[in-house]
Amino acid sequence: MTMAQPQFDYDLFVIGAGSGGVRASRIAAGHGASVAVAEEFRIGGTCVIRGCVPKKLLVYASQFADDLAHAADYGWTIQGARFDWPTLRDAVARDVDRLNAAYTRTLDSNKVAHFLDRAEITGPNSVRLKQSGQTITAKNILIATGAWPMMPPFAGAEHCITSNEVFGLDTLPQRVVIAGAGYIAMEFAGIFNALGSTVTVVNRSDAILRGYDIDLRERLLAITRARGITYRFNAPFDRVDKHSDGSLRVHLQDGGEPIDADAVLVATGRTPNTAGLGLDQVGIALGARGEIPVDADGRTSCPSVFAVGDVTDRVQLTPIAIREGQAFADGQFGKKHSAVSYDAIPSAVFSQPPLAAVGPTEAEARASHGDVKTYTSDFRPMKNIFSQRIERGFYKLVVDGATDRVLGIHMIGPDAPEILQAAAIAVKAGLTKADFDATVALHPSMAEELVLMR
Ligand code: NDP
Repeated sequence: MTMAQPQFDYDLFVIGAGSGGVRASRIAAGHGASVAVAEEFRIGGTCVIRGCVPKKLLVYASQFADDLAHAADYGWTIQGARFDWPTLRDAVARDVDRLNAAYTRTLDSNKVAHFLDRAEITGPNSVRLKQSGQTITAKNILIATGAWPMMPPFAGAEHCITSNEVFGLDTLPQRVVIAGAGYIAMEFAGIFNALGSTVTVVNRSDAILRGYDIDLRERLLAITRARGITYRFNAPFDRVDKHSDGSLRVHLQDGGEPIDADAVLVATGRTPNTAGLGLDQVGIALGARGEIPVDADGRTSCPSVFAVGDVTDRVQLTPIAIREGQAFADGQFGKKHSAVSYDAIPSAVFSQPPLAAVGPTEAEARASHGDVKTYTSDFRPMKNIFSQRIERGFYKLVVDGATDRVLGIHMIGPDAPEILQAAAIAVKAGLTKADFDATVALHPSMAEELVLMR
């Protein structure tokens, strides 16, 4: 345990009370360190306040549209169903308030001091709070400031929103243009499409969800097109004009027709949030992607300053930030060295239908292993059997031909993220295709496809 250093106000000062910062704070405090954290927006961070959690609630809300549309197939008569955006928006906001309070209580109960202020580094062991002007000293500083929506330069960008603003819209936009075709774009395309908006996804390249297995991406593209989402590829934004009635017109560089919209959501990636942090005061130079470079222990080039989470741009996922925060606190204050494993990280896109994956794609495995076998299942989810809906699920196992080990699992279909989380344990444990085959199917389920691929 690190003893409090009398020459410093705190053992640890954390900048940013998001997933990584809160975990690091409370674990360090639990190890006996005196800890303070500064947060300039709201305690909880992006995931809780304006990311994963409220997004997932919007996904649930929008899925009722699908269930209601197909309820008649199961004998239900539903009359007068209508959707009210402000009701949903305010319910989501209330839940965010609840979580914000819960995270704040967690800090309090772990005796972590918190400042609702912006902190800037002024030296290897000092920060200054912007509003109060107070200078605070600490033996160690942890930067956990996350990432920030990246807005590519185009005229009229000020008329567009990012994921920061999308949760607070006054009304449900009838026509939405989404720039980018990554996680956020595909998730909000599904939400708005299901809620009844006309959705156009515009990407600079000809791909959606780069990094996922091509078969999943093609399946999602086909299904979402059938559901009414329009795509414009190889079409970087040229400019966005705002008309006097408040409507927007998006001009693209593909030479095609401009698109009229009531809202334009820019989801073209998130860059490490380092602006004005005072990194120059401690000689920290940013990496090529704007990230703070760190070693395996999260230490920056300044020995007393550490960083975890999206600001280090290793893997931009909440559970990774949490693990990095935990490992930092255990390592520095608990004398418990635990390295974060970046191997076999499961991930999901809450598109409609959702997709989920763990391990390398087929193409990646072929490049790294050479001898690779794949097993696939292309099936009609049972829930769709009554309806005219032709959407099919698709699962793929990527197996090392030499060892029979299952390297990767790739899934698109209802509940894919729920199923994949459990299946990821098998991949992490290094189980073989023979182990999958030896597992008895749980019938009838979609997950049983995982053990029935021959
Ligand atoms: P992504 O990195 O997922 O996707 C970015 C998209 O924007 C791509 O389609 C990319 O095109 C395009 N793009 C990138 N740079 C530019 C540019 N300069 N001009 C125009 N288009 C550009 O970013 P998101 O914003 O969707 O999400 C940010 C991060 O947040 C994700 O990486 C993810 O880690 C995290 N996240 C995770 C979620 C989850 O786990 N379910 C949900 C939401 C976010 P292309 O590559 O085709 O050229």
